[in-house]
Amino acid sequence: MIKVAINGYGTIGKRVADAVDAQDDMSIIGVTKTSPSFGCNLAVSKNFPIYCTNDEESKIEAFGKQGYTCHGGISDLLNLADIVVDCSPGKMGLSNLEKYKKAGIKHIFQGGEKHDLTGLSYTSCANHQSALNEAGARVVSCNTTGLSRTLVPLYDACGELSVECTMIRRAADPGDSSRGPINAIKPVLEVPSHHGIDLMTVKPEIKINSLAVAVPTTLMHLHSIVADLPDGHNLTTNSIIDLWKKQPRVIVMNGSENRITSTAEVMEMARDMGRKWGDLHEIFVWEEGVSLKGNRLYYFQAIHQESDVIPENIDCIRALMGTVADWKESVEITDSAISKYYGL
Ligand code: NAD
Repeated sequence: MIKVAINGYGTIGKRVADAVDAQDDMSIIGVTKTSPSFGCNLAVSKNFPIYCTNDEESKIEAFGKQGYTCHGGISDLLNLADIVVDCSPGKMGLSNLEKYKKAGIKHIFQGGEKHDLTGLSYTSCANHQSALNEAGARVVSCNTTGLSRTLVPLYDACGELSVECTMIRRAADPGDSSRGPINAIKPVLEVPSHHGIDLMTVKPEIKINSLAVAVPTTLMHLHSIVADLPDGHNLTTNSIIDLWKKQPRVIVMNGSENRITSTAEVMEMARDMGRKWGDLHEIFVWEEGVSLKGNRLYYFQAIHQESDVIPENIDCIRALMGTVADWKESVEITDSAISKYYGL
């Protein structure tokens, strides 16, 4: 049993904790909160021991005053774990990394941190092998995970890819009241955006540029992608659709036939599927939106930002612990355990 600590039990942390709890080869040893709040109730209901993100006695005691049992500070938790999944808000990684190194435990960061923090970025389908037995890694962002899921198999099928894409980003997560815009389309004036560059941290062979805009929606991100394939690629629109249909964690569906014409219906379908929080771990591709004209491929895909990275964190735990060397084997174990956990 791999003993896993979750540092930061927020949007991503609570989901990773459930996904760990679903597996037979790992268990949750504790989760951290900065202070007592409604989020502690979920940890209590799951029997996950609560620790404080801080070692200060007064901060630990604050939990007891609100009726929660706090088992200690972050250092106490790190002493018990084999690996920590850091799900703190972005840019806190550097100070947390010091703590992990001091405790001598393996560590996984999220996409809000920079690649340089660990020097190793990870996504299951792109570079599982390169993470085997390493000390630490960063699971790439939700957008980069989405790009990897469809572009890596495409690259593997044709040996060369040059990509231009636009990321149409959700303004905020549904549970977040502090971000925007709420009535504007906001271009990210960092051109090209970091998303394409980020893909090259896990698959440097793919040449890619990206632009990004934020729009007033909370449900999903949408990618509009143009990919140039090499001469003699031998692929057709249908063979690319078939390729993605066989790819783990990609759903390809005909939008008009299924009346799934926007991210609203995609998320409604996800809620019907029955994973907790209405999560969609898969990347959604509209079948009739895929079109290969000569060497140029056009397609759209939708990304559930709060959940596509969740199963990747589980595969990354196995990679760093060196327990499953084949990415497809890990993906199969992860996904079937999660389905069983939610009775699907
Ligand atoms: P969040 O704000 O929902 O949760 C962060 C949690 O960490 C909160 O519970 C917070 O109290 C806690 N925290 C605060 N300071 C901490 C510290 N010093 N150490 C440990 N924990 C601390 O954030 P989130 O959306 O879950 O994002 C976590 C990470 O995942 C970020 O790197 C983010 O970029 C990345 N990510 C987020 C999404 C998304 O859509 N929310 C998608 C993919 C990746």
